[in-house]
Amino acid sequence: MLLEHLKQAAQARAASALTRRRRTAHSACAPWQDIAAAADAADASNASVAGPARRLLTFCSNDYLGLANHAAVAEGFIDGVRRYGAGSGASHLVSGHSLAHAQLEAELARWLAPHIPAARALYFCTGYMANLAVLTALGSAEATLFSEALNHASLIDGTRLARAAVQRYPHGDLAALDALLGACTSPLKLIVTDSVFSMDGDIAPLAGLLALAERHDAWLIVDDAHGFGALGAQGRGVLAHLGLASERFVYIGTLGKAAGVAGAFVAAHPLVIEHLVNAARPYIYTTAAPPAVAHALLASLDLIAGAEGDARRAALAERIAELRAGLAPLAAAAGWQLPPSDTAIQPLIIGDNDEALALSAALEADGIRVGAIRPPTVAAGTARLRITLSAAHSAQDVATLLAALGRHARAAGAVPAREAA
Ligand SMILES: *Cc1c(COP(=O)(O)O)cnc(C)c1O
Repeated sequence: MLLEHLKQAAQARAASALTRRRRTAHSACAPWQDIAAAADAADASNASVAGPARRLLTFCSNDYLGLANHAAVAEGFIDGVRRYGAGSGASHLVSGHSLAHAQLEAELARWLAPHIPAARALYFCTGYMANLAVLTALGSAEATLFSEALNHASLIDGTRLARAAVQRYPHGDLAALDALLGACTSPLKLIVTDSVFSMDGDIAPLAGLLALAERHDAWLIVDDAHGFGALGAQGRGVLAHLGLASERFVYIGTLGKAAGVAGAFVAAHPLVIEHLVNAARPYIYTTAAPPAVAHALLASLDLIAGAEGDARRAALAERIAELRAGLAPLAAAAGWQLPPSDTAIQPLIIGDNDEALALSAALEADGIRVGAIRPPTVAAGTARLRITLSAAHSAQDVATLLAALGRHARAAGAVPAREAA
């Protein structure tokens, strides 16, 4: 029965062009990466292990500053292994909490303190777990969670697991949220939002959200997975970028994207952190991340905050401007949409699932890898190429992508080449 059921589910996915397969990287995360030619096989053959790899120009990682394979961060990792070995041995409350974790938390608290007075920080193995932890520990039965429509899956899962009531508000709609907050009689109100939306690249109106939080005595949970390291002075994230400060913020930064390693942290009022340590099951009931990971992150934070971080953020901003300038006319010619985004996430909305997949495949034939994102990750009818840029990309890399998209735009838009040119 189970296998029959799963077979039908697989056939339904295939019929809607929604089957997902992994691609195996044979080299480090970088703009030019060796990728197995064949997708991970659905049967027992090990095609992606045995098969040949091909070097592709990639625009899909979240390694926004190019630190995932930076020599100083890799050295930090190795140094961490020499000091602390491979594993932590236990959860944080049992015996797994190391000096490296404590140092990392102290440094992150210092980074966020200008924006969250007296903030403490708590390190998690992943952002997914940090979000589950915050929402389940704070979202008690007395609370109402106000969840932005385009929130990341990990926040949505957190609202599902929490005992709190949940209200969804439309994307970026402050007036709708104001009305919901005004009508709510819960003693605890928690607004939950991504800062940079992961499939669209736009930034939540956090100043307006904070004003609503103050007016309605609510708290504001901000997931800055795509902002920490990439945005703001010294890479301190979206709160620095927008110049916001309040003790009402519960801030989540992830450390596997711009920071280039792994894990996440929550920065918040000390009583919030104390509560998470004592009550958040995704914190308590899991083995602490290897201390070496935290030690490597100390090296990464040094880079992010320093002159190298500034140079990398400046390079990233140049690549974003180059891409958008080249993409706008192509999108117009082909009938694609390029929504506003100032961040490293640049969505090119194609619409149809098959067309988005075909465009992604055509680019791969050109030696370029850009992921096609389909429902349910994005709304039906908005399948897209999610182009992500990195400080490690060169101007030439962006030009190569634009040239390839230009060729496919002419084919897609039924626009004669001389008009599109
Ligand atoms: C990637 C991401 C997460 C999850 O973080 P991980 O450390 O990868 O588990 C959470 N929220 C958003 C918005 C993300 O993009």
